[in-house]
Amino acid sequence: MCIRDRYLLDYTVEWNVPDDQNLILEYGHPYKKEPVIAEAKGHIFHRKGKKLTVKETGKADVTKLGRYELTYKTIFRGKTYSLKRVVEVVDTTAPELTLAGDTTMQLEAGLPYLEPGFSATDLYDGDTTKNVTVEGTPEIVLPGDYTLIYRVKDSSGNETHMERTLHVVDSTPPALQLRGNDTMYLRLGSSFSEPGYSAWDACEGDCTAGVSISGSVDTNTPGTYTLTYSVNDQSGNNNSCVRTVHVYAPQQNQSVNPGDKVIYLTFDDGPGPYTERLLDILDRYGVKATFFVTNAQPNYRYVIAQEAARGHTVAPHTYSHDYSYVYQNTESYFADLQAMNDIIIEQTGQVPWLLRFPGGSSNTVSANYCHGIMSQLAMEVEMRGYQYCDWNVSSGDAGGTTSSSQVVTNVISGVQSKNVSIVLQHDIKGFSVDAVEEIIQWGLANGYTFLPMTYTTPMTHHGINN
Ligand SMILES: [Zn+2]
Repeated sequence: MCIRDRYLLDYTVEWNVPDDQNLILEYGHPYKKEPVIAEAKGHIFHRKGKKLTVKETGKADVTKLGRYELTYKTIFRGKTYSLKRVVEVVDTTAPELTLAGDTTMQLEAGLPYLEPGFSATDLYDGDTTKNVTVEGTPEIVLPGDYTLIYRVKDSSGNETHMERTLHVVDSTPPALQLRGNDTMYLRLGSSFSEPGYSAWDACEGDCTAGVSISGSVDTNTPGTYTLTYSVNDQSGNNNSCVRTVHVYAPQQNQSVNPGDKVIYLTFDDGPGPYTERLLDILDRYGVKATFFVTNAQPNYRYVIAQEAARGHTVAPHTYSHDYSYVYQNTESYFADLQAMNDIIIEQTGQVPWLLRFPGGSSNTVSANYCHGIMSQLAMEVEMRGYQYCDWNVSSGDAGGTTSSSQVVTNVISGVQSKNVSIVLQHDIKGFSVDAVEEIIQWGLANGYTFLPMTYTTPMTHHGINN
């Protein structure tokens, strides 16, 4: 612009100011300072203009917001001319706000809302993230739509805002928990009382009152009963679980009707410290079993007498259970067998007619000591009047199974596919003895008869492998 000062005789002093005399600068925008020029012009002299020396006082700091006054002075022919100028550095640009995550989010109800984060930067103030406010944040989100508003102001009062939309849905069913065992056993004629349950939903809290139960238990009829527990939340999500109740009657006698399913429980390698406990369990249910005994723990020899006296079948397994001795030749096999028979006869007064080979008739360990000995022994024992028996259901208690519950599972799953089961367990394993009660309760509730082995028992023979 050009400012014509005033006439002095025939001279004029003109100010040439780049941009506006009063200048507003947006902070951060590039600014190139142009000089303010004063010129003297006359009609005769200096018709093209004479540049005068200009002195500038005051300073505009474009790196800081503010109002700056600048004064320009020049002297021409002994007279001072001045010009005032105001430069204002302003910030009218709002901070930039950035949301982490999506601006529309799908959330599962009942969980705390976790803010994905945000950041704000302002050209002048720099990082203004700490000034961001968020409105509408739910503490625990319930189903529905929410709008979160993020706002931030800079020090000049420029505000920006953004929104985030939350679509909250409930697709999680309530948690449902049974008190007591999910498999129960009840003696015939006893009463069933519901052990209880609880249900909890992330949105609705305790919803135990909404649990419905279908099914019933008749404790006067042996069998397996299923109770189904079911609960819905208000969004229609369902959860259910099942309790199985077995009602059993203790076995009254050892008779079995044709076609009935039969379980022969057999126990090897005892007697030992758990065997008397096992005998008590068997007595409680009227169940008779078969014991293939050893002399591994001579202190418990007297238990062999109890086994027989309480109606169980007692038969030799092996005196030593030492494969390298028993299977080195037929003579040592029969010597070992005779040693065990002598103890059985001493304890029970009965002469054994049944046996079980160490490792079973299909063992291959014997091949380490004598080629073909199992073929010879299988014939030889029958010639000597014995029957030998293997098993068709293994509890796994001699191998990888180390818990009662797994023994129960193994035996029940093995028995279920057979009409006649010969179950192998070891009464020198406490956890295996602990499994017997549940196996019996399950069997009695499901129509099985437990029998001790007799002459008429169908003998299970594995194939001979040596
Ligand atoms: Zn054994």
